[in-house]
Amino acid sequence: MKEFNYYQPTKIRFGRGRIREVGEAVSRFGRRCLLVTVPVFPDFEGLFQEVKEILEDSGVTVAHYEGVIPNPTTEVVTAGARMAEDHRADVVLGLGGGSSMDTAKAIAVEATHAGTSWDYLFFRDIQPTEKTLPVVAVSTTSGTGSQVTQVAVVTNPEEKVKSALYHPHLFPKACIVDPELMLTVPGHVTASTGFDVFAHAFESFITPSGSPYTDLISFEAIRLAAAHLPRAVKEGADLEARTHMAWADTLAGLSIANAGVTLPHGIGMAIGGMYPHVMHGEALAVVYPAILQYTYQAVPDRFARVGRVFDPSLGDLSEAEAAAASCDVIEDFIKKIGMSLCFEDMKVPSEELRALAEASLVLPDYKSHPRVVDLEEVYALLLKSCRMHPGRTQE
Ligand code: NAD
Repeated sequence: MKEFNYYQPTKIRFGRGRIREVGEAVSRFGRRCLLVTVPVFPDFEGLFQEVKEILEDSGVTVAHYEGVIPNPTTEVVTAGARMAEDHRADVVLGLGGGSSMDTAKAIAVEATHAGTSWDYLFFRDIQPTEKTLPVVAVSTTSGTGSQVTQVAVVTNPEEKVKSALYHPHLFPKACIVDPELMLTVPGHVTASTGFDVFAHAFESFITPSGSPYTDLISFEAIRLAAAHLPRAVKEGADLEARTHMAWADTLAGLSIANAGVTLPHGIGMAIGGMYPHVMHGEALAVVYPAILQYTYQAVPDRFARVGRVFDPSLGDLSEAEAAAASCDVIEDFIKKIGMSLCFEDMKVPSEELRALAEASLVLPDYKSHPRVVDLEEVYALLLKSCRMHPGRTQE
């Protein structure tokens, strides 16, 4: 058996109603908390007030930073870090989707170190130290898995680059995954964030960087997303589907924290940097069909196993046939959740696709893909993700 390491220090509190434990979870790490969220909106108001009251009842003094935006920028992090310093925060609570949890992590670094969060990206010489404030994460989407990862994704709008801090000090000390918090997520956001769950699980299942441990958890996350994401998209109030998706999200996060992601995420990050209006899950879904076709022959056993989750009748086919067919069944799943997209839908101009191809090879994710692309190949994959491309299946 392959040798491997597996590391996961976050205490996970999973289950319906567990938000009531937020005071206990936070007060273990400090008494002065910066609560990090998007600007409060009607569906979020009740949750925000509940969390604030529970924290205060637990003796925690709260300052509220509500400056988070989807695909958070370095400026957003800096404004939050100044607030953390002014409040003399000793713990940061990220409450929301990946954007809020990642902002909390980046604030935890910037408030305690010289410079800005951008100076601590994963490839820099200087890295976050043990001075990093403890982070508690409460996820309200399923999701990015950020509640259990050592990653904080930030965008530098001047450079039009989306990149990441990546360090063990960024693992949240504790997280709460309460599926009841996800009941208000609108259908398209459920689909987009849920597709990210599938993508995390799938990419960490097919990458050569995986292990027997991550195989186990990523495959289970794929199984859960296949069964429950269409239900959660169709009926947002389906608490059982939400619960299974919250667990799939957490498993997929545990898996990427140890096995990483591959080519679609490298391209998705480049799309996010150049076109911040595009949701992270959309940026992945747009390139998935072309990448599946490009990849399946490199790891037919893996593709066949995934395909048979979606369509057990593929069990009657040979491994090679099932692998080829799996590309179609995964594409059907993408259509079923309303995520069949092309670059035209996202207002990405075709004349910018070459620059996008170059940007897609900046992060190292593509090197962990089972078939490693060069610039011309990634450009061809982007072209195939346009509606006008002759190779694209017409709906
Ligand atoms: P998000 O946090 O940007 O949230 C999407 C939208 O959903 C927002 O408008 C938000 O206000 C809304 N929302 C969130 N919870 C809601 C709820 N319960 N009810 C109603 N609306 C709700 O989206 P996301 O996909 O969770 O996070 C995306 C970010 O996370 C991107 O920047 C992405 O690159 C990053 N990411 C991080 C990791 C990691 O490991 N740290 C992994 C993957 C992606």
